[in-house]
Amino acid sequence: MDNSLKLKSTREFHPDDTVVSVGYTKVGANQDIVLIGGPCSIESRQQINDIAKQIRLTGANILRGGAYKPRTSPYSFQGLGTDGIDWLCEAGKRYGMPVVSEIMSITKLEEFSQKVDLIQVGARNMQNFDLLRELGSIGKPILLKRGLANTIEEWLLSAEYIMDSGNSNIILCERGIRTFEQSTRNTLDLSAIPIVKQRSHLPIIVDPSHATGDWHLVESMSLAAIAAGADGLILEVHNSPELALSDGEQSILPERFGELVKKLARVAAAVDRSIRLC
Ligand code: PEP
Ligand code: MN
Repeated sequence: MDNSLKLKSTREFHPDDTVVSVGYTKVGANQDIVLIGGPCSIESRQQINDIAKQIRLTGANILRGGAYKPRTSPYSFQGLGTDGIDWLCEAGKRYGMPVVSEIMSITKLEEFSQKVDLIQVGARNMQNFDLLRELGSIGKPILLKRGLANTIEEWLLSAEYIMDSGNSNIILCERGIRTFEQSTRNTLDLSAIPIVKQRSHLPIIVDPSHATGDWHLVESMSLAAIAAGADGLILEVHNSPELALSDGEQSILPERFGELVKKLARVAAAVDRSIRLC
């Protein structure tokens, strides 16, 4: 069935780029490239505070941190829950950054809608249609990650669930897909960026941390993503990656984040975009 004319995420429905506001930060169109940084998991009040302080000084616009973690093993660290969200919000306020965190369950909708500025739907929940519909009914912007093994079409149809329930404030996030390649955690599908831009008016950012699983690869894939037209990046940053309770091997140090931002500014300029350097 060809229902493309009805789809709210398409260029046919809405020719101009959508700009999503997250606090004072605007994402999409010709706005500055957005840089989201922070640890995979909030581990303590001190940890999120220290990382927030360091990355804010070198160019982060939005602070990330997971409090409800979708771990492959039930015996791995599951996140600090409400304490984590509260410490994330506290650090965000202290250093003037809106915050993003992942929602795993509809039961936490009220907590997220009250406290979190940008609600992340992780790869594993991209097709949790009940959750998507509920997120459509609250006014908050949504960061919708691509599923581990989902096509671009399926991903855009998931955005459609949120839009059909009344919320068009969606930022898409390419975070790598499962392929036969074993050298990286996932395979970063850079071509998804221009394809999404062609088909949809929604902004798209890239997560090179989960896409590669290896901090050594984060810099090159970040530069490539901006060169390919991404509206921003979400990067895992940790001040002692070797002690991280999740995803330490793909987390960069705050100092490296600062160095990367300077290089990103040069690539952004080459593709007629900009990064606001602090
Ligand atoms: C995350 O951002 O911490 C995360 C779990 O990402 P993904 O859903 O892309 O695996
Ligand atoms: Mn992670």
